[in-house]
Amino acid sequence: MSHLRFGPNEINSSYLIDNADYVACHNPAFLKMYKHKMVENIREGGNFVVNTTAGTLEEIEKTLDARTKRILARKGAKLHVIDAEAIAREVGLGSRINMVMQTVFFGLSNVLPMDRAIALLKEQIEKTYRRKGKEVVDMNWRAVDATMAAIKTIPVPAEWADIEVEREVIDWARPDFVRNFMDRVNTQTANELPVSAMPYGGRYPHGTSQYEKRGISTRAPVWDPKACSQCNTCAFMCPHAVIRPYLVDEESYAASPYTDLPKAKGKKLKGHRFMIAPSPLDCTGCGLCAEACPDDALTMAPLADIREEAVARYDWASSLPLKDDLLDKFTVKGSQFQQPLLEYSGACPGCAESPLVTLVTQLYGKRMVIANASGYVLYIFLYLFTQLQRRVGRYRRCRTVHHG
Ligand code: SF4
Ligand code: SF4
Repeated sequence: MSHLRFGPNEINSSYLIDNADYVACHNPAFLKMYKHKMVENIREGGNFVVNTTAGTLEEIEKTLDARTKRILARKGAKLHVIDAEAIAREVGLGSRINMVMQTVFFGLSNVLPMDRAIALLKEQIEKTYRRKGKEVVDMNWRAVDATMAAIKTIPVPAEWADIEVEREVIDWARPDFVRNFMDRVNTQTANELPVSAMPYGGRYPHGTSQYEKRGISTRAPVWDPKACSQCNTCAFMCPHAVIRPYLVDEESYAASPYTDLPKAKGKKLKGHRFMIAPSPLDCTGCGLCAEACPDDALTMAPLADIREEAVARYDWASSLPLKDDLLDKFTVKGSQFQQPLLEYSGACPGCAESPLVTLVTQLYGKRMVIANASGYVLYIFLYLFTQLQRRVGRYRRCRTVHHG
């Protein structure tokens, strides 16, 4: 969450904003994650913008929780929606929506006259992307030009002011630490916790990232079992340990709801079926797996279309016993049948460091202690990784794919 202040005079003090003129939700998943926290500091009559595919009142009301609706109505806030990703895709920017959302900000916030803001934005685009070529500059300019006409203002129904707020359902299956501490941190409500709620020594229990399931991507990979050559490059490349290969014994396969799993290739894997299953709610949509796949067996698809089926596949696959002793783990393929001990990393989409750290845990995790899992320690991992290159035979090829 970013807090940004503009003013005619120089701003010298730093504090969080509690009476915002303008609040924008750039990722629809945040509506589920932060719920009413997103708008509770909006001022009377302020603007609330959501980047979403929902373009009508009927559609947007399904995505807002009751408390959010009540706050918007009681504060007389204005609700705007924009499908920023559609614009970015149309002009060739893929999933990069920053220029669209910046234009929305200048269009609705009135911090500058619109003509002046657009001229300055375009000038800045030219300066920033000139070295990347005219095509990139043009794409960003087109994104700016297309944006204002695409903003839709949805009138907030007056009856939302008295809407009944449901009681929150507590998922008691989640561990205490996750419910009482991690969830508060992740929803940015941990400031309300007493110091005594902090884990002693700042230590976190292991394996908590599996409970986040943020669903931040609007796209996730879909696997084509017929095209797949079972190389495991996709899992090797994934920065977040989201897409993984699974070996399924014939008995489990016969009892499963699936009929499309190919026989696992290789003598050592005889008697098994092969499956690639990404965790769609942990995917960041970076698309690296699909880019790296040598057989075009992965396609990025809208999460909304595949969510249910993909979650069911992943839940089933991840409940299977680990088959980590059938192949040499010091190969690209074998390494990916090992349990990653840093999984679902919250790194930025496409991070190049996190797959290296994940790989080290797959190769040496049982004998590893990480004293400080951030910053310069990563350089040590990078050094270790260069030593590992000699042993992990196909790394050079994967690196070429990644940067190509
Ligand atoms: S799109 Fe990115 S995060 Fe998602 S499974 Fe592929 S590599 Fe992993
Ligand atoms: S990279 Fe492509 S071919 Fe290789 S295992 Fe993944 S989906 Fe299959």
